[in-house]
Amino acid sequence: MARYTGAVCRLCRREQEKLFLKGNKCTTEKCAIVKRSFPPGQHGPLKSKGKLSNYGHQLREKQKVKRMYGVLERQFRRYFEIASNTKGVTGKVLLQLLERRLDNVIFRLGLSPSRAGARQIVRHNFVYVNSVRVNIPSYCINPEDIVEIRAKDKSKNKINENLELTKDRTVPSWLEFEAAHLKGRVIRLPEREDIQQPIEEQLIVELYSK
Ligand code: SF4
Repeated sequence: MARYTGAVCRLCRREQEKLFLKGNKCTTEKCAIVKRSFPPGQHGPLKSKGKLSNYGHQLREKQKVKRMYGVLERQFRRYFEIASNTKGVTGKVLLQLLERRLDNVIFRLGLSPSRAGARQIVRHNFVYVNSVRVNIPSYCINPEDIVEIRAKDKSKNKINENLELTKDRTVPSWLEFEAAHLKGRVIRLPEREDIQQPIEEQLIVELYSK
């Protein structure tokens, strides 16, 4: 599937917000948002002065969430359609679907400092769900699923290095993690309050409901 392959820090600068796409660099002073806190492009600093319309706000929020989870437009739209056809609050279900992606679960367990890295781990066949190998980053996990990494020597060392990098992060309460066995369990579905990033999902619902 096609992926955005450009400079990811540019995406954060475009949204004027940290999207944490680069792992540990994001919490250091090397972060592009810290160094250049204006939108990218030749006239970035001038453009940033413009006031956004309602539509502009909705569009930016959608772009932000898409970029945060590394999902392209078509797939994001599909998530929205599933969410709007599911019982419950559409915005919450949408975020729940994004959180339930296998690459996000690997990221949340601290097995990778970024979602992009987590996607690679899945793609490289290291991830097993309920003892079955799954290499689809968008795979949707369910409560009681067991997610584990099975890797040998060099790859296992790399994953352990990742765990060292993410040791200050907290595994969300809807997941349980046994670092010694590189194994996680999905305790329950994620709730809205489990997602700490500032997201105004209602704006996305309004955008797609036009
Ligand atoms: Fe975004 Fe991380 Fe780059 Fe900072 S370092 S701009 S948070 S991707």
